[in-house]
Amino acid sequence: MLSRWNDAEAAKYSGPLGPRIYSSRLLGQEPSLVLHGGGNTSVKLLEKDLYGDEESILYVKGSGWDLEYIEAAGFAPVRLNPLLKLATLEQLSDERMVNELRGHMTRADAPTPSVEAILHAILPYRYVDHTHTSALLSITNTPNGAARIREIYGDSVVVIPYIMPGFDLARLCAEGFPRDVGPNTIGMVLMNHGLFSFADDPRESYENMIKLVSQAEDYLRQQDAWEVEISDNREQPHDRESATALAKLRLAISQAAKSPMLLPSYSTPRIRHFIARKDSQQISQQGPATPDHIIRTKQLPLLGHDVAGYAENYRRYFVQHSAPADTKLEMLDPAPRVILDPEFGLCTAGTSMANALIVRDLYEETMNVIERAEHLDKYQALASPELFAVEYWELEQAKLRSGGSPPQFSGEIALVSGAASGIGRATVKALLTRGAAVIGIDIAPEIHTVSKQSAFLGIQCDLRESEQLSKALYQGVHHFGGLDMLFLNAGIFPESHAIHELPDTVWQQSMAINVDANLSLLRTSHPLLCLSPSGGRVLIIGSKNVPAPGLGAAAYSAAKAALNQLGRIAALEWAPDNIRVNLLHPDAVFDTGIWTTEVLEKRADAHQMSVAEYKRRNLLGVEISSHDVAELAVEMCGPLFAKTTGAQLPIDGGSDRII
Ligand code: ZN
Repeated sequence: MLSRWNDAEAAKYSGPLGPRIYSSRLLGQEPSLVLHGGGNTSVKLLEKDLYGDEESILYVKGSGWDLEYIEAAGFAPVRLNPLLKLATLEQLSDERMVNELRGHMTRADAPTPSVEAILHAILPYRYVDHTHTSALLSITNTPNGAARIREIYGDSVVVIPYIMPGFDLARLCAEGFPRDVGPNTIGMVLMNHGLFSFADDPRESYENMIKLVSQAEDYLRQQDAWEVEISDNREQPHDRESATALAKLRLAISQAAKSPMLLPSYSTPRIRHFIARKDSQQISQQGPATPDHIIRTKQLPLLGHDVAGYAENYRRYFVQHSAPADTKLEMLDPAPRVILDPEFGLCTAGTSMANALIVRDLYEETMNVIERAEHLDKYQALASPELFAVEYWELEQAKLRSGGSPPQFSGEIALVSGAASGIGRATVKALLTRGAAVIGIDIAPEIHTVSKQSAFLGIQCDLRESEQLSKALYQGVHHFGGLDMLFLNAGIFPESHAIHELPDTVWQQSMAINVDANLSLLRTSHPLLCLSPSGGRVLIIGSKNVPAPGLGAAAYSAAKAALNQLGRIAALEWAPDNIRVNLLHPDAVFDTGIWTTEVLEKRADAHQMSVAEYKRRNLLGVEISSHDVAELAVEMCGPLFAKTTGAQLPIDGGSDRII
């Protein structure tokens, strides 16, 4: 591993915390050092208090901050002396420790200090860096790990056997560190957990970390344990059969979790090799590389598809390990978070795409740790009681709960057709805001610019080509795990013609897009909607033209009326599958691509109205926007309409032709 330190870059970080922020981010940028909130750093600074007296303040990473993006506000300032005194106590409960940490902060609005704050305090160096580096874990997590660590590092590190993080670990280090520290010490190895480096200078502390990690990497290379293998480069199939199988697996996982979960599947030659190993059963069924992964990955991945068996084993694990605890624990949901499958590769479950991708990153790194440990000797994770203690540690659970209550469509997946503009684009936004993952399809290349969130996948495709359409659907299903909601929004408004002069091509094109493409999408989606954990939902964007057709709009009105009947019949046919189908009839939505200023002015003129008057030409005198339609469309797939199917709702400001 190379040092990323750059003096010119470092100089851009000013103020007493500047160098601490800079080198923390350098550590955070290296996935093999820390991932997603793992690791922590600190600096001890002398500051004057209100009365002008100098005191030592430990600035330590606040809980919930990620090293890669940390800012000054992410460090909690805690008075050093009280922390040092705490380390002399025989015992300290988690609750009281957190209370003490918070009580000694000099800034009341700072985040809660890392649970490893006391450990940072007792190390007598200005800068302290802590990571969960993969290379080191490949060595510590083997039967002779401690001896190997001694062989690699000699007296340059202090070695601390595994103990639960928090006060007990700080206490053990407070005893062990002063006893074992020597003139050559630049770091501390926590067995099965991670690595500390330190120095009075920020660059030196950071580069000590890089040096220690490089030594571990070199050792693995010398032992011929560094290279991880890959398998063939075959493509993952994206067909009806595999999409349905994945959606089934997602349904089982969501049922075990008692809430809908996303299940993105991901397959690379590296992942396929790991899963295809003859000993995959043995090496994967032990535990995570470092204990704090467990709150996101659970102790074990599921190999294959037996979710019920997995959940049963999880219940047993909970009963077995929770018995001796004096507090009454509540079991977490027993659904797996990591699924290793020869067909789908690595699937990770989460209530949001961001969460599922964090689990993916953690497990990809874990595969490297496991395989290198196997090359070296034999992977040996911590035993279940130790892991259980971290999984059900109140302080770790608090991290997961910090997100608040889940949004309305948490863990659900929607497909929106015609999503690049107008009502479709607004529907994507409304769904993302409510926590859904969204597959957006459109013929326009702008589909790729609708959202940068990981919960959005834009696919360019021609709706008239049924093969392209099903391919896009299956691609979306593999990306997120299934399908819960279908928004049939794409449509065209062909040029006006009286029937006696209506060209076949205009009629046929209107039918092809407004009806045929929707039929195709409904048919292809049906088996997937049947597998939705909360019941499938279809929302069809119809038109005021269905109940109140307009002169010259035969091609459009007839096509929308056909689509309307299609939707009503789907409501009849699919109710036994627990799929709801509802229809929305908007009118006069002018903030869409079709309505240029020029067209609007022409129409307003024809009605002898101003553009503003023309836009509000309805009983309530209101203007209807894409946003209004999208919000209602999305709500019709939510709990308010849970008992409604086959309904047609106007959103037109009121029309005397319809009422
Ligand atoms: Zn740690």
